[in-house]
Amino acid sequence: MRLRVLASGSRGNSSLLWAGDQLLMLDAGLAVTAMTERLVDSRVGLKSIDHVVVTHGHLDHSRTAGIVAKRHGALLHAPAEILEHRAIKRAPNRQALPIGAECYLGPPECGVSFRATIVPHDCHPTLALRIEHGGRALALLTDCGEPREEPARALSDTEVLLLEANHDVDLLRAGPYPQSLKDRVLGPGGHLSNDQMAVMLRRLAGPRLHTVVLLHLSAQNNRPDLAAEAARQTLEQLGRTDVRVVCAEQDRPLETIDV
Ligand SMILES: [Zn+2]
Ligand SMILES: [Zn+2]
Repeated sequence: MRLRVLASGSRGNSSLLWAGDQLLMLDAGLAVTAMTERLVDSRVGLKSIDHVVVTHGHLDHSRTAGIVAKRHGALLHAPAEILEHRAIKRAPNRQALPIGAECYLGPPECGVSFRATIVPHDCHPTLALRIEHGGRALALLTDCGEPREEPARALSDTEVLLLEANHDVDLLRAGPYPQSLKDRVLGPGGHLSNDQMAVMLRRLAGPRLHTVVLLHLSAQNNRPDLAAEAARQTLEQLGRTDVRVVCAEQDRPLETIDV
């Protein structure tokens, strides 16, 4: 598999995953113009995306999911609860993501299997995903209010881990957000801090792991060096200085990563 993170942050999240002959889009939260630019930049032509997978209904993950799926003739997979949402229902072909069970995404002969698990966030349900193809696996865990053990069990043992590192608690507390928004971000329905990311990373870093991509960094309340340092320290404590750590960006795609 090959992964390209097109964008990540509060203004839109989206990644491409090539798995055998299937092309998946994981979340589609960019606005139409930015999405089109990044697909052209990634040499993705019309009608070439097979599946659009949406983790939850917040617009920074779902904004253009229906439009992309319709343009590409892709099957849109989303939690059953949001299949009729405005941004989603523009896709003529939609399917509910089963939760908990190991399933195939598309025909079994394509060999792309996945497992979705619920994470705490103030948009229920929000799903974390483990996707596997050809003996390689990737996990995506973002928009998660607190580092619970259960999602970690469902997502472990992957080559690549996409993991939210939204904020540094001190920067958030001292920053310009109104108190109500600070409380939301810090609460169990909010987002993972760098310290909470480290707790999840400790649980998820198995022997196969070679790359960690940190997602959804807040432009106001985090810095890439702080997030990356928190991840590197944890990996060092685990004796895994060989694992690469990359921070996804809002305004430009990352280089393609071989899973
Ligand atoms: Zn989000
Ligand atoms: Zn969200």
